[in-house]
Amino acid sequence: MYTATAGIVLPTTIIGSLPRPSWYTENLGRRNFREAMVDKFYREQYLDAASAYLRDQETAGLDILTDGDCRFDADVGGHNWFSYPALRMDGFSGAHAYTAKGGRAGMPHKRGHILHDILEARVMPDLVGPVGRGTLQYTAIWKAAQRLTTRPVKFGTITAELVAMAVRDFHYKDLRKAIMAISDALNDELTELADAGCPVIQMEEPQIHLLAAKGLVDHVLNADFMVEVFNNTVRGLRGKTEVWCHTCWGNPAGQRIFDTQPSYVPAIAALNRVDADVITFENCSTGGMDLEAIGKGIKEHKIAIGVVDHHTLQVERPDKIADMIRRALQHIPKERLVVATDCGMGREGMSRRHALYKMVSIVQGTNIVRRELGLPEAACLAADERYSMVEES
Ligand SMILES: [Zn+2]
Repeated sequence: MYTATAGIVLPTTIIGSLPRPSWYTENLGRRNFREAMVDKFYREQYLDAASAYLRDQETAGLDILTDGDCRFDADVGGHNWFSYPALRMDGFSGAHAYTAKGGRAGMPHKRGHILHDILEARVMPDLVGPVGRGTLQYTAIWKAAQRLTTRPVKFGTITAELVAMAVRDFHYKDLRKAIMAISDALNDELTELADAGCPVIQMEEPQIHLLAAKGLVDHVLNADFMVEVFNNTVRGLRGKTEVWCHTCWGNPAGQRIFDTQPSYVPAIAALNRVDADVITFENCSTGGMDLEAIGKGIKEHKIAIGVVDHHTLQVERPDKIADMIRRALQHIPKERLVVATDCGMGREGMSRRHALYKMVSIVQGTNIVRRELGLPEAACLAADERYSMVEES
């Protein structure tokens, strides 16, 4: 159901992660969140970092906020986004340096490329027993952020298939069974989160679009099965909260993983079947090339388009963002359009100031279009001229 985006035309948000403050040096490691929050040094840094992330989003004027992926450790290429669930769910143990088949996602894997570091950082536990929720503690993590702001805080999680594909399975010995077991456990966790009042739950990177777009289809992994997994993971949630499906073309260490960004066109029919309220699309980095097809193919979901690119340091100008929104409005009705980033800003990629001003641009650009449409504008404290300290000469 629509909760966070209900009643807002052209709501603005980011996908999730924000650059870590340099002073945020504490890490969860193998602790669970509640355990670490007993540690006064961790607790202080965690809450200060979450506050800083939320304040930056508030001063930019975003409508829907995130905790900046504050729970993840300072690691190489954002690896903890993959490893966090496997380190805490029941059924996983150990630490194995897993090597991906290099060509699988088109990721270069030869030493000498920055993405080789990403592959070297993929140390994951093995799957050795029945999967359960364990100590994911998503509800506590969401509450820790939501109680710092009156604006809705969106909570995002990696999907089951990406966890299953990144570990050695000595228990189920069947990739589909492992994926569904993780999916069931995530559903348990997310049901508790929805019951606690989380206004938006975002499933991050179901492999629907990647499998469809790159033709990486076999009898085990294909777009249809990924839709089945998505819908199993979120079953029952839409009666309680707003469910988002985040898709993008990758964000390891802020890098593109394809020579040229793929098109969503081969995946749109499958994406149209996900049991979600909002689907997000990487759109800025591709120059909006799929807007028409997305508008035609996604019939009922709200559609979040990326208007800033996480791969670049250049802050997108508000007038260019307004142009992109106007182009999107040619294909997507304003009541179903959400304005977002292509992906997370990345925890180690850009500076905090780059991320802040990208968020400020999102709101300023959206305000231009809101003004044209006679809609209320969002307050953007970060762009309020009254508080400029530059003096006129
Ligand atoms: Zn993404």
